[in-house]
Amino acid sequence: MANETPETNGPQEEGKAPEDQAGETKAAPAKGQESAPADPSRRSFFKRVAMGGGIALAGGGLGYAGARAAINGRAIDDMDAAIKTDDTLKPMDQRDVILTFATSKTLNKKHPERNEQYSKLQDKKFHFYEAASHFEHRVPWDNSKPGYTQLDKALHHAAWNPLKSAETWTMAHSQPNTRVLGWDQSDVEKEKYEFQSKRDAAWAIKSAARVWGAVRCGITPRDKRWDYDPLYDIEKSRTLSWERDFPFEPKTVIVMAMPMDYDAMATAPAWTAEAAIGHGYVLMAQIANQMAKFLRGLGYQAVGAGNDLGMSVAYGVAAGLGEAGRHSQLIVPGMGPRVRLCKVYTDFEFVEYDKPHDWGIAKFCLSCGECAKACPSNALPKIEDPGGGWGYQAQYEHSDQPGYTWNNHTGVLKFHSDAKKCFNFWIDNDSACGNCVTACTYNEPDYWHHWLSMASTTVAPGFLHHLMSKMHPLFGYGATGDPTKVDKFWETGKGMRVNPSMKNNIGTAGRS
Ligand code: SF4
Ligand code: SF4
Repeated sequence: MANETPETNGPQEEGKAPEDQAGETKAAPAKGQESAPADPSRRSFFKRVAMGGGIALAGGGLGYAGARAAINGRAIDDMDAAIKTDDTLKPMDQRDVILTFATSKTLNKKHPERNEQYSKLQDKKFHFYEAASHFEHRVPWDNSKPGYTQLDKALHHAAWNPLKSAETWTMAHSQPNTRVLGWDQSDVEKEKYEFQSKRDAAWAIKSAARVWGAVRCGITPRDKRWDYDPLYDIEKSRTLSWERDFPFEPKTVIVMAMPMDYDAMATAPAWTAEAAIGHGYVLMAQIANQMAKFLRGLGYQAVGAGNDLGMSVAYGVAAGLGEAGRHSQLIVPGMGPRVRLCKVYTDFEFVEYDKPHDWGIAKFCLSCGECAKACPSNALPKIEDPGGGWGYQAQYEHSDQPGYTWNNHTGVLKFHSDAKKCFNFWIDNDSACGNCVTACTYNEPDYWHHWLSMASTTVAPGFLHHLMSKMHPLFGYGATGDPTKVDKFWETGKGMRVNPSMKNNIGTAGRS
């Protein structure tokens, strides 16, 4: 099910497409020939409308009401009706989350066999902890290589700097109880605010999320199946128990999505894209901190979380924010996977819960596979794989080797990716990647004709999904490893003025 490769099971997203791996990424068009739309041009506009309209007709015709219903998705009673599980499902031990394992010297000492097996099967010497120790500081910039210059490196490091200054960036590795996302409850107001209705409570929470910068917010009951258990304090090398160490018993999880810049992500896997990712993490910590403080101010206990505490993608599905895609990330209608997620655990439960929704996204993924094609490390399941890569257990290369799938959460019918390979590419790239986010057929700028196109996918028959996934790159979307996108990104600032096409600075900046 579920928003990331390394996020739930390992590094959840992004990567450089080194030139020697060009065959595994989409070919970079020559400068001046790139097809990504510099603006919502008339050509692109009419093509997209034609595609959306044509498919809508093929699917039986979409009236306004039908399109609207398709965009809203179909509500599903609860998570048990939304997903299929088998009896191997159990909460994931945080020590098996790839970024937790890779950043823990203790865990690497405890499991030398993981490093030995990976090195043997990949036919190269690789040590997760040693690799992680030099991450993002190993490769010197090269000012002749777009996306890997001093300018790109400085942008990347600046994006993460607020979290590093606040000693909270380890929440990206699932470290719990960090400075900004701390567990202290000493500031909970003694008087509890009473809402008039559960709906009022939900609307208040979502209004607060919106003003801080979240683009989606859903509320769902806490579900232990999606929590890491035991939790693991990487810095102190000790497990933590929900019952013994967490400050209260959570009843509700609030899930919020924040956007990543379209133009920066279009440069993936260059270092430039990491600026959007790092900034997304800053928003995760900021908004989760603010939401937790808001609830404590209302007299309820609350703790904010980034990647820590539980699986953000599963909770995002449960809270009705989107569906899990082939790349193991949450696909949010209207945003695609170009979001980051944060959560707030609280004991507040007088609130209207959201339901999971079906937009036909996972079904679409069965016929698409563009993310897997763009993955430079072969970490993602391909449509040619058994079952299309869809199953209760991992089915990727070497998954039949005993112990190799230690980082996978099994027992849920979903796409399983090999986050070890993804992480390995991050190390080679000296930065996260993001190709699977950028290449995703659902990753499009927020124009109304893209919404129409998305609505069409929910009603179009399966054979059209494959065709639609092929049209996406034909219309200039989703290319990765394209140095011209870096030049384009560094021009987006020219549009920073009062400008109705800015679209809230989440993907169309500079297109005046
Ligand atoms: S494209 Fe592959 S290597 Fe890059 S972030 Fe996605 S899964 Fe990882
Ligand atoms: S690129 Fe296609 S297969 Fe991959 S997650 Fe996006 S829609 Fe699904």
